[in-house]
Amino acid sequence: MNVSMSLSLDNTKNAFAYKTNAELRRANFLFSIIQNSFIVSLATKCTPFLMKSGLPINGLIRSTIFNQFVGGETLEESARVTKQLGSYGVQVILDYGVEAKEGEENFDNVTEKIIEAVEFAATQKNIPFVSVKLTGLASMSLLEKLNEAPRLRSGIHDSEADDAAWERVKERMYAICDVANEKGIGILLDAEETWIQDPIDRIAIELMAVYNKEKVVVYNTYQLYRHDRFHFLKISHKIAQEGKFLLGAKLVRGAYMEKERLRAQQNGYTSPIQSIKELTDQDFNAAAAYCIENRDSMALILASHNEQSNLLIVDLMAKNKLSNNDAHVHFSQLYGMSDPITFNMATEGYNVSKYLPFGPIGDVIPYLMRRAEENSSVNGQTNRELLFIRKELARRKSKK
Ligand SMILES: Cc1cc2nc3c(=O)[nH]c(=O)nc-3n(C[C@H](O)[C@H](O)[C@H](O)COP(=O)(O)OP(=O)(O)OC[C@H]3O[C@@H](n4cnc5c(N)ncnc54)[C@H](O)[C@@H]3O)c2cc1C
Repeated sequence: MNVSMSLSLDNTKNAFAYKTNAELRRANFLFSIIQNSFIVSLATKCTPFLMKSGLPINGLIRSTIFNQFVGGETLEESARVTKQLGSYGVQVILDYGVEAKEGEENFDNVTEKIIEAVEFAATQKNIPFVSVKLTGLASMSLLEKLNEAPRLRSGIHDSEADDAAWERVKERMYAICDVANEKGIGILLDAEETWIQDPIDRIAIELMAVYNKEKVVVYNTYQLYRHDRFHFLKISHKIAQEGKFLLGAKLVRGAYMEKERLRAQQNGYTSPIQSIKELTDQDFNAAAAYCIENRDSMALILASHNEQSNLLIVDLMAKNKLSNNDAHVHFSQLYGMSDPITFNMATEGYNVSKYLPFGPIGDVIPYLMRRAEENSSVNGQTNRELLFIRKELARRKSKK
């Protein structure tokens, strides 16, 4: 059993062994550009319009931000990245990155794509999970209604059409989970905005009660930038124990902070978001520690680029004498970000993955814009990325 007492996450030689000098220089250039919030804000506004206008900007997007953050347009294209990551002991969470395309036909298509991804994952050694965004399978307006309507939520039918639409959403999720269960692949339900999150939580718990009896197939995502979520994690755990199933918990800080705060302000309700970052950090770390303490009845996916949070859990694993590759503890970072965490942890034998989106360029634009935005703030992730990329470029230069 390999139990690590200390782990260093700043070895850039390990972190970027999979990147050529030219690729590293491209990453350096890209992160330098998206550090500029003015450029990002302009690009975020113009890109969808430029894509629709038919201007030939696909090539530019593909050779820059798409290649940095996305596995490919198809499963076949993503297979190359998956194999490459696998050769360094890095696992993959596959994500069909098409977001919020409305219409029943689109929802059925996304379901098919996700099932294909699950089937593909089962043929690869290093893809334990496939992620699902419920907004890919259900209309925003239905989810908002379900979030708001307690009578509908409790099973009293306000509208037959809505009820039938919700039944179809459930059928899609059951179809995905049936295949995942049979093939031994985990399904991660992403967390989204608070005004649609309640039906996501409800279906997650329902599916866990069905599929997580002996092993953890279904995971829900908990956003600890919400001040109610640590409490909700504990409630979910209690429900799981009473229902005699295992809880799958993917922990994130949360991706929609500005949007959440703005909406709360505009609509005059208390923001669901913690007032300061330190409180988010505190709850995130406490929730992760809670999962380790309850490791026998729950499985944790720590989805974070925060070094302290990752190291904290590594230390707790050692203190609890869990092996580095404990089946109930998994770490994950987004593809294109935080390679020092991912690759150094993989070297030490932890279960660690890249969250790898795939999909047609035009359809993954919202995902790409989110990555650009979260990397554009002065205190954001970019400084960390640039620091490590430049350190590695300098190290390679000094070797010549
Ligand atoms: C594998 C993976 C899967 C993910 N899946 C999801 C998902 O399903 N749903 C989702 O919403 N996000 C998801 N994310 C994104 C995630 O929520 C974070 O936005 C991102 O990872 C940054 O947080 P961090 O822990 O990596 O790092 P950090 O840089 O330490 O934290 C930044 C985060 O802290 C919080 N924060 C920043 N400033 C403040 C403030 N002033 N007050 C309160 N909180 C603050 C915000 O959440 C911000 O994103 C995922 C991330 C990863 C790596």
